[in-house]
Amino acid sequence: MISLLSIFWMDESRGQSVEELNNNNISLEYHEVIDIYTQLDAKYSNASLQVIGTTDIGRPLHLFVINKHEIFEPADISRERSRVLYVNNGIHPGEPDGIDASVRFATALLENANQLPGNLVVCIVPVFNIGGALNRGCCSRANQNGPKEYGFRGNARNLDLNRDFIKCESTNTQSLVKSIRAWDPDVFIDTHVSNGADYQYTMTLLTTQLDKLGGELSGYLRNSMLPKLYSSMENSGNEMIPYVNTKMYGSDPRTGLYDYMETPRYASGFCALFGTIAFVTETHMLKPFNDRVDATLAFLRSVQEYMQEHGADVSKLRKQWKNDFASRSTLALKYTVDSTKYHRISFKGFESFQKKSPVTDLPQIYYNNKRTYNDSTNYYNYANSSNSVNVPSYYIIPVAWKEVAEKLKNCGIKVERLERDVTIEAGIKFVTEYKTVPKPYEGQYLHSNIKSEMRVEKVRYYKGDYKISTAQPGVRYIVETLEPEAEDSFFAWGYFDGILQQKEWFSAYVFDGYAEKMLKNDKQLKGEFGQMKKNDPDFAGDAFSQLYFLYKRSPLFERSLNRYPVGMIYK
Ligand SMILES: [Zn+2]
Repeated sequence: MISLLSIFWMDESRGQSVEELNNNNISLEYHEVIDIYTQLDAKYSNASLQVIGTTDIGRPLHLFVINKHEIFEPADISRERSRVLYVNNGIHPGEPDGIDASVRFATALLENANQLPGNLVVCIVPVFNIGGALNRGCCSRANQNGPKEYGFRGNARNLDLNRDFIKCESTNTQSLVKSIRAWDPDVFIDTHVSNGADYQYTMTLLTTQLDKLGGELSGYLRNSMLPKLYSSMENSGNEMIPYVNTKMYGSDPRTGLYDYMETPRYASGFCALFGTIAFVTETHMLKPFNDRVDATLAFLRSVQEYMQEHGADVSKLRKQWKNDFASRSTLALKYTVDSTKYHRISFKGFESFQKKSPVTDLPQIYYNNKRTYNDSTNYYNYANSSNSVNVPSYYIIPVAWKEVAEKLKNCGIKVERLERDVTIEAGIKFVTEYKTVPKPYEGQYLHSNIKSEMRVEKVRYYKGDYKISTAQPGVRYIVETLEPEAEDSFFAWGYFDGILQQKEWFSAYVFDGYAEKMLKNDKQLKGEFGQMKKNDPDFAGDAFSQLYFLYKRSPLFERSLNRYPVGMIYK
């Protein structure tokens, strides 16, 4: 039997409503969350609990959909009539506020079913990182003020799922990304708990970086939607401020707040590539758990109410955004916060002070939460773009790199296959520089600072190779993943590492004679080689280096080294 108490769920095993559990510093366990949604699904025809795929721990990934019109498949929903709000919880199960808040949010919406919005579909992922949620304990969130028990950040493969949205290594992310792309949400919310500086606010909000999002949509968000959401939160008694990201981690917020540049590896950065307005709620870890859940719930309601009233504007601007980006001839690959452009925002903080740490004997910042202040601080929320590339008409991915094509397909990108062998003039990039992390980062040897040179080549492609047109709504995702220099490109994530290793070498005692002829026939090369020997004593004393220098410049040297195999076709 199910029983509902007021708007809050009564947990029969404990005899407490979800609100009471939260007040007692208890967050729902994974199986309790799923039980509640299962029973809501059984009780209300306006709700459906669906399985949207599997996860690394082998449990199904669920999505709870609330729709007044009782339509629960994204393809069947009229986007003229209904907007979509998509809430993701438990990406970091040690930060469970949204898990509990969403249960209360959904229950309250359904209990007042006659007031359910007809123009808004609400999708909730009850718990995304199920493996992490099952790995429950008391202590992995050092310093966090409750709940008593919570899950662990890493998933069943010890991956941080909020870095997995491009590489999609975990089954959890593969399932979620497919669902997000099928729903194409107007607004996406990822719920978290933040650490860092101390201040008076319970809720801070990370909005997808506005200049990176671009288009008229970003101006609307900056000037219309965000001010309304901030004031709605204030009116509900949950005044919030932008996510407290200081220039140097751990600095006093009075030094200024800077937009966090969430690249597409993050859930919000990924969603923004498709023109979805993405928010990350970051409650403050030192505030009591129940206050944090209340603040998260208040934000979900604020967005829901905003979308009921203004959803048509958002939807119109998103349509424009998609058309705008699909027709751009260049796209920037990098955005950097402008440290010269800011405005003042009011800031209610705690006085900080420096003191010598008794442990390290070094200066350390501390906050005195008895000494509050009401001041203002600089907020840097503009960004400059750089590293623009010309957008090709299409890319060709040779079938040898099929896992990359599969990742594109999983994100709903239209991928065609070549029907016959062809020779095409293509832009081919040769990677000239990159750095690699010394230890694995999120399961990969991530590359950064990638530079390349493009050459135009006549390239033979084969039947079955993948052709990806950029004239489609996912163009920003396509460009960000297939241009190797982009921070979260598939190249950066190591999917093309095979090209970075030389396959053939030379035998010095044979090549020596060939090299001698090269120098005899090429005066310029001879001059360059002579200068190198003269200026660089190491080079002059190293026979192998000298021969290798010439080998690389000979026609014997392989053309495939550092040759990025994805062709760029411009026409
Ligand atoms: Zn988090």
